[in-house]
Amino acid sequence: MALLELRNVTRRFGDFVAVDNVSLAIEAGEFFTLLGPSGSGKTTILRMIAGFDLPDAGQILLDGRDLADTPAENRPVHTVFQSYALFPHLSVADNVAFPLRMAHRPSEEIQRRTQQALQQVRLPGKAAAYPHQLSGGEKQRVALARGLINRPRLLLLDESLGALDAKLREEMQVELIGLQRELGITFVFVTHAQDEALALSHRIAVMNRGRVEQLDEPDKLYGFPRNRFVADFIGNINMLDAQVLENTHGHLQLGIDGLGEVLAPSMPGPMAGGHGLLALRPEQVRIVAGSEDIDLKNRFSGQVRELLYHGDVTIYTVALANGALFKALRPNSTPGRATFFEVGDAVTVAWRHDAGVFLHD
Ligand code: ATP
Repeated sequence: MALLELRNVTRRFGDFVAVDNVSLAIEAGEFFTLLGPSGSGKTTILRMIAGFDLPDAGQILLDGRDLADTPAENRPVHTVFQSYALFPHLSVADNVAFPLRMAHRPSEEIQRRTQQALQQVRLPGKAAAYPHQLSGGEKQRVALARGLINRPRLLLLDESLGALDAKLREEMQVELIGLQRELGITFVFVTHAQDEALALSHRIAVMNRGRVEQLDEPDKLYGFPRNRFVADFIGNINMLDAQVLENTHGHLQLGIDGLGEVLAPSMPGPMAGGHGLLALRPEQVRIVAGSEDIDLKNRFSGQVRELLYHGDVTIYTVALANGALFKALRPNSTPGRATFFEVGDAVTVAWRHDAGVFLHD
């Protein structure tokens, strides 16, 4: 049985449907992420799981039991907010110990568990400090320690790495993964940062306008987005309008206006005459000099329009004959060369016949 289940959960604010008939199941020990743009309903779902808000329709079940009549304080759930919500007048140790004090635990136990929690988040030396004396990363750790001290079944993390700078954020991501693995607590993480979601999660629900667009493992979401929204929201992607010419013998033959024919991986569904989009990641697209021969059937000439040098890789934007702009990524692994091509260079972009996905209308 799933640890937590949402069954047809809907939440409206006036006429506005913030969460629209969402069903999903989260397994014990999972690192589960709700990913979506601002306003897609992620926080509203989290608040309903925590018990700060109630669904207008549908059910939320923990271990198969409906939580409707369980007030927030009685749910085995803790929320870590982006703002950390630390008490400024309490020391780190007192902030962390707060949930145990509220539960009137004996002082010996409070002390022991507080120390243990601070050790888990690698902050044992800061017990006596006050929140204003801490860095962003340290505050984040205190909030986590306070979240873990009551050993909740579910830890809800609302954009909780959002306030950290990029480097610290990456460090905390690695720590979060380690902590979650070590403690076996189920995490429900909310973010609009797709790279963070991909790096941290066992599974991700991609949200849009209150609905789940796709629920999958990170590599499935990235490699096999189900629709345009998911393809576009997760990572960088090229999309070309395409018409189905043939769908047989293990391949899909597509016609692209102004370019010609391409081959794509076969899939059940599309029929000759149908329309859709061919979606290809920039790292699936090879880019070579226009004069160079390349042994791939899907190949088109174009001109470099823009380039973005990232250090390890360069992303080239290439204008194709039909005016479409296509992104191709090339690793900068040749020593002594910053970029391979310049704006205006004639190039060929090419990709394998088994690369990409066809998203049919
Ligand atoms: P963000 O990433 O910006 O936090 P989100 O995906 O978490 O966004 P929610 O906070 O769940 O989005 O909000 C979803 C929608 O519901 C938003 O359009 C928001 O304005 C609306 N909403 C949320 N709470 C209320 C409320 N109490 N009253 C009215 N509208 C609300």
